[in-house]
Amino acid sequence: MTAMQDAIREGVNEMPEPTPDQPIVRYRDIRKSFGDFEVLKGLDLDIKQGEKITIIGPSGSGKTTIIRMLMTLEEPTSGTIIVDGEPLWHEVVKGELVSAREKHLRRVRGKIGMVFQQYNLFPHMTILKNVTEAPIHVLGMPKQEAKKRALAMLEKVGLQDHVHKYPIQLSGGQQQRVAIARALVMEPKVMLFDEVTSALDPELVGEVLQVIKDIAQTTNMTMILVTHEMDFAREISDRVVFIDKGKIVEQGPPEQVLENPKTERLNTFLKHFR
Ligand code: ADP
Repeated sequence: MTAMQDAIREGVNEMPEPTPDQPIVRYRDIRKSFGDFEVLKGLDLDIKQGEKITIIGPSGSGKTTIIRMLMTLEEPTSGTIIVDGEPLWHEVVKGELVSAREKHLRRVRGKIGMVFQQYNLFPHMTILKNVTEAPIHVLGMPKQEAKKRALAMLEKVGLQDHVHKYPIQLSGGQQQRVAIARALVMEPKVMLFDEVTSALDPELVGEVLQVIKDIAQTTNMTMILVTHEMDFAREISDRVVFIDKGKIVEQGPPEQVLENPKTERLNTFLKHFR
């Protein structure tokens, strides 16, 4: 008898063990309202291990909310999100004691890394310290090991010569690359990038996109990106998801979605970028 059958027999509301071909992230009938305003109206989305997904759509369509829910920064009004086989926001979790729920969320959140529009580095810490802080204090990693890993990550984003500087001494593009290294050093299974170049001067956008492109091409990390950079989306995505008014309107390979839109809504949206 399988573990799943055991669980059913005993009436235990447990999820089965993740299998290799199971999506690493599943959104199931997610609804999210802020007050009377329903931002997401029943979102279903499966993301495979290693897949690179770009979410595009008009401002206010709910893109950021989708990824903030995965980072546990927002709670869905209803529906289920499963990460690596485990429910993230789930009826059982919602009903648990606050401490148990916090513990559960922390553990699942450990599988996810996020880079924001505003890089939010610690201003009083060197670049190296910004990157070693979480491995040491959240993962309990020995300092030397954390330093070794942080230096390797900072090299990966091309900042090996700046590790002893403070954030204010770096350009916005360099600071955003530190934020990427800081998220990567935790070795998340899923990386979220929320309009990471929107706050940058145009001449600094390219270096940040290049770093993300390198990560996409050289790792098997699952990546979910929200971006308005359509050329970038075309180059790095396995799948582009167009969302409008809280629903997925079209999705598919970039050449299909970006070159041959099926709906007038997507066609109109893409005209802004041509
Ligand atoms: P997008 O990323 O597509 O621009 P968002 O997910 O940021 O859209 O926001 C969708 C809608 O939800 C917007 O109208 C926004 O104002 C609203 N919204 C987002 N977060 C909040 C919040 N914490 N409180 C109230 N309204 C919010």
